[in-house]
Amino acid sequence: MAFVILQNCCKDASCVAACPVNCIHPVPGEDGDYDTAPMLYVDPRVCIDCGACADACPVDAVVPADTLSGPELAYAEINAEHYAGTPLEASGLRPDRPTFRDWGRPSFDWSLPSDFAPLHVAVVGTGPAGMYAAEHLLLHTASRVTLIDRLPVAGGLVRYGVAPDHPGTKRIGDTFARLYSHPRVRMLLGVEVGTDVSFAEIGEHVDAVVVATGASEGRRLGVPGEDLGGSLSGPEFVGWYNGHPDVPADAVRLDRERAVLVGTGNVALDIARILSVDPEVLAGTDLADHALAARLESAVREVVVLSRRGPEHAAYTAPELRALSHLAGVELVVDDHDGAAGATIDAAAPGDHAALLQGVPRRTVDVSGAPAPGRRIVLRFGAEVAEAVGSAGPDGAARVEEVVLRDGTRVPAGLLVTSIGYRGRPIQGLPYDDERGTVPNEHGRVDGAAATYVVGWAKRGSSGGIGDNRTDAAATVRTLLDDAVAGRLGPRKRSTRALGRAVRRARPDVLDAKDLARIERTERAAGTAQGRPRVKLTTTADLR
Ligand code: NAP
Repeated sequence: MAFVILQNCCKDASCVAACPVNCIHPVPGEDGDYDTAPMLYVDPRVCIDCGACADACPVDAVVPADTLSGPELAYAEINAEHYAGTPLEASGLRPDRPTFRDWGRPSFDWSLPSDFAPLHVAVVGTGPAGMYAAEHLLLHTASRVTLIDRLPVAGGLVRYGVAPDHPGTKRIGDTFARLYSHPRVRMLLGVEVGTDVSFAEIGEHVDAVVVATGASEGRRLGVPGEDLGGSLSGPEFVGWYNGHPDVPADAVRLDRERAVLVGTGNVALDIARILSVDPEVLAGTDLADHALAARLESAVREVVVLSRRGPEHAAYTAPELRALSHLAGVELVVDDHDGAAGATIDAAAPGDHAALLQGVPRRTVDVSGAPAPGRRIVLRFGAEVAEAVGSAGPDGAARVEEVVLRDGTRVPAGLLVTSIGYRGRPIQGLPYDDERGTVPNEHGRVDGAAATYVVGWAKRGSSGGIGDNRTDAAATVRTLLDDAVAGRLGPRKRSTRALGRAVRRARPDVLDAKDLARIERTERAAGTAQGRPRVKLTTTADLR
């Protein structure tokens, strides 16, 4: 009986390193398809059932095949299918002894000199990218790390991006949290570098700065009516249900029967699911209280997901689409209004992206009238938004009432979410690529900024899941250490102890790891009382 990797695989490849028989693929840096693969897979022909992968997995996504039930059962086949037609030799395995790996010659392509002095590095941003960078520095060098975040709480997109009904994925936060109390880590929370204190000032107290500020802004369509009430970007909507202090509790109203989402990325699918799933499921999660209240009273029954291109170009991954098609009491349907999507899906060969929709029901959905009875998520391809139309309500504020498509279809809806990707904000003191919304860099070394490095979405744009940040952070840390070994970091001007004092001068109310632990205890205790993992504090004032 083999182990099986499930949908919530975070792809950080901790399991790959733990597997004694090399039966988990694709492997970062080794298999060409790692970057595009939605998840990793166990080769059941080779797995020796030792469970090392399950112990190593930070999100509990690896389980014994004989414990699978319900929709999870499909994953035994999905794991096996990945290896269909692959000879065992491709994994460096001998066909006569499938559990024996030909390890080949060990290669140590890089190591630090024995007299390498410990560095002090400031990591700005405590999301997955920043925490993987910190982990690499702490585990592979004797460096000290100061973690800085503009919010008074750590976690970045683990806390404010991962959907609340994906508790397995959220568990990676526990792995990162272990580092908060590491003896060589200090935390300074609630201080915005670039605003409260400059990058230059931080840089004077440390040997290097790693920018891990992510991509917090939502891309916008630029169509008329996009600024109406009830029109939000994907990141705003996700921030709303995850209790992000930047998004007010009343930013979303679910008082109309239809919502329109633009974009077919995994974020759009997360939003469609949160709007559609039985609210009782959400009641056991850490969904923000205001979002839970809104869902319990929600009028939304139909979520229309618009894609400007065909099903072959949809941006979702197979596991997330599969999860949507298994939502109890919610129909997933392809709106085949002009026959084009259906033709593409029918013509798709096994393995083509469009083939993912071959089992999904198809019909013409009248999105211009009132939604038919029942709950559904409608995928409509080849559809672009021309404008959002609304009028002022009793409170005087104009809100979305209709979304007009370029083909003239008028879709009545009270909510429009443009989930078309994230972009980073310009940060004072750092260069900025306005087109990509990123910090320009070469191999993680920020252009024109000495001893300054960048990781994650701030480096490469908003692509990839949590685990992709592990290899990305390792590459940037490698660049940083190369520079340190070559003497390119330059001398530190001030004592590292003075960093805390300098930050406290700018933000006397800065929080540290003890304060963070207090927030954690408060939220967990409130959660225990309600049978939930935590009840989130959702405003900066409450967190402070
Ligand atoms: P995304 O995957 O890049 O998808 C963006 C979507 O927006 C695409 O469908 C794109 O269509 C569409 N789009 C872009 N510009 C548009 C425009 N001007 N008009 C209409 N449509 C437009 O972005 P995301 O959903 O925000 O996800 C970001 C990353 O996070 C992804 O790598 C995603 O996989 C990852 N993520 C993963 C998970 C998970 O693993 N569970 C969950 C959430 C997010 P075109 O292709 O036509 O440009």
